[in-house]
Amino acid sequence: MAEYFEAYAQHFDIMGRIRFGTRVEQATPCEGGGYRLQLAGGECVEHDGLVIASGNLWDPRWPEVPGAFDGDFIHSRDYMDATDPVDCRGKRVLVMGLGNTACELAVELSAAGAASQVLLSARSGQHIVPKVEASIPHPSEPPTGLLATLPRPLRNALFQRIFPRVIGRVISRMPDPESLGLPPAPATFFEKRMVMNNDLFGRLREGAISARAGVKTLMGNRVEFEDGTVDEVDVIVAATGYRFSLPYLSDDILGCSPPEIELFHGVMHPRRHDLFVIGVMKAICSIWPRSEQQMALVAPLLAGEYALPSQATIERESYPILDVPFSNCQFYTADLQRELAKGRRRARRR
Ligand SMILES: Cc1cc2nc3c(=O)[nH]c(=O)nc-3n(C[C@H](O)[C@H](O)[C@H](O)COP(=O)(O)OP(=O)(O)OC[C@H]3O[C@@H](n4cnc5c(N)ncnc54)[C@H](O)[C@@H]3O)c2cc1C
Repeated sequence: MAEYFEAYAQHFDIMGRIRFGTRVEQATPCEGGGYRLQLAGGECVEHDGLVIASGNLWDPRWPEVPGAFDGDFIHSRDYMDATDPVDCRGKRVLVMGLGNTACELAVELSAAGAASQVLLSARSGQHIVPKVEASIPHPSEPPTGLLATLPRPLRNALFQRIFPRVIGRVISRMPDPESLGLPPAPATFFEKRMVMNNDLFGRLREGAISARAGVKTLMGNRVEFEDGTVDEVDVIVAATGYRFSLPYLSDDILGCSPPEIELFHGVMHPRRHDLFVIGVMKAICSIWPRSEQQMALVAPLLAGEYALPSQATIERESYPILDVPFSNCQFYTADLQRELAKGRRRARRR
């Protein structure tokens, strides 16, 4: 992947425009437009627009659990492997959470030669599906047939009807999570982003991983769970997710806190047309091609080759980026491309 990104940057000749190892400490709007960036070390630079691409999976969301734990307590952000930063080999490890990361870590830690015991603690259930399912197209695949040609609202409505049936068929072939000690899965497929994992059910079935309820209290080297079970534990790995935070940008500038931000087509601030967020979305397919498509909208806008619609349309087509129901990722790309084509036509008319 690193080689690919390097080749990409070289191909588009952007290496010389990157200032590596330069942290933005503060971004503030300038009076006449644009932003003043204060860099680590004190230098200030001004730019016409600000593209936020600083990631949303780095600020750990720690679980709030009463009590104190005597063993090692790390967040999945810091987990490298079963020996780093904590040597989990031969130890009793509790993984908190039931998202993609928690399930991956539990499977990895339960491999031979890793932890002696793996507990997986979940407060609420998840739909868990295989990573690849031959009978259905992956959500990264372009939609075909009717779905490709219908107008957007109709297409989305149809997708919302078809998707649960298709996924329902896949889920019906999987074990019932409750039969393996996990909490019941959500009532609908749109409530939570699904977990993709091929090995978790097998490991639970063979006892290499044991499901536990949510953590109630930490008691030295023991952990009490919501159902009253108590286990001795050496290491806790909190795979409890991340907060989307932008420490260099005040909430006043955004008009809300970062997780609540609504963006035009998931990209542009509806009232600050020179402020963009790239790569922050809920998707179950690769984010990188989506990020590139997002920039394919931003770059022509900054170059004056794409003209925005009316403010009313901008506001109507803005939505919270972290609170949208999952859909086919190609729909999103298609919508961005359609908007780009419309904006280019608007720019030519002006
Ligand atoms: C365990 C795990 C597995 C994942 N697997 C996948 C996957 O298979 N497919 C997928 O699409 N996504 C995956 N993701 C999500 C993945 O993180 C994103 O897709 C991808 O990294 C987003 O790239 P990005 O450039 O937007 O953000 P990041 O990769 O987070 O990069 C942000 C950059 O901004 C820099 N930065 C931050 N703050 C500042 C500042 N103040 N000043 C200057 N620079 C700053 C950081 O140093 C960093 O270089 C995974 C995430 C995790 C945690």
